[in-house]
Amino acid sequence: MILVFIGAPGAGKGTQADLLVKNKGYRKLSTGDALRKHIKQKTEIGKKISSVMESGNLVSDEILSEVLAEELDGCVDEVVILDGYPRNIEQAKALDRINDKNPIKGVIHIDVPTPVLIERLSGRRVCSSCGASFHVTAMPSSAGEVCDKCGGELIQRPDDRPENIAVRLRVYDELTKPVLDYYKKKGLYFSVNGDGDTLSVYRRLDKVVSDLI
Ligand code: AMP
Repeated sequence: MILVFIGAPGAGKGTQADLLVKNKGYRKLSTGDALRKHIKQKTEIGKKISSVMESGNLVSDEILSEVLAEELDGCVDEVVILDGYPRNIEQAKALDRINDKNPIKGVIHIDVPTPVLIERLSGRRVCSSCGASFHVTAMPSSAGEVCDKCGGELIQRPDDRPENIAVRLRVYDELTKPVLDYYKKKGLYFSVNGDGDTLSVYRRLDKVVSDLI
């Protein structure tokens, strides 16, 4: 079964999904991570998408369908958290078409005010080796300039540069927000206040998730 997490970039979908993976044994499927893996491995898909991703725009629905099918393959009896999909109405409809094998139990909107999103995204640093995520002030690496988990180099994601953050927030408003109404009409929509520290948000989210699963 599927739990969909929707939220603007920087809302904390990935961080919260990681906590649910750790505490409940669910599986996280982040389309952003899957696409970044293609870029790192220089696959045919990776070569096609790198500049679009860097700019903060959406990768094509066709490529997303292919990547989603690849990642969902074999996940039948698990609770799968979809982090970053669907991001537009077409993708929501595509997800409905594969809904037989993986029914959607709920769509959780992690809601965060825009100034907080900008602060989170512009200070984010990620490990170029293991992918761990840090924040320059809110969650710095205890090892300073390098990752405190593996010693890898900490970098700013190209799409976290100020000009690209603006594009991502606009894309979210124009293309992804309508998806919330799509699920409201289906009775699948739930909202969680995503402002605050990670643990407070997790407690609010966990209540909603526990009622659904
Ligand atoms: P994320 O890590 O979820 O912030 O995604 C990073 C980038 O990957 C986005 O800005 C898009 O370029 C691309 N991406 C991730 N998920 C999707 C999706 N469902 N549809 C289109 N592009 C996506």
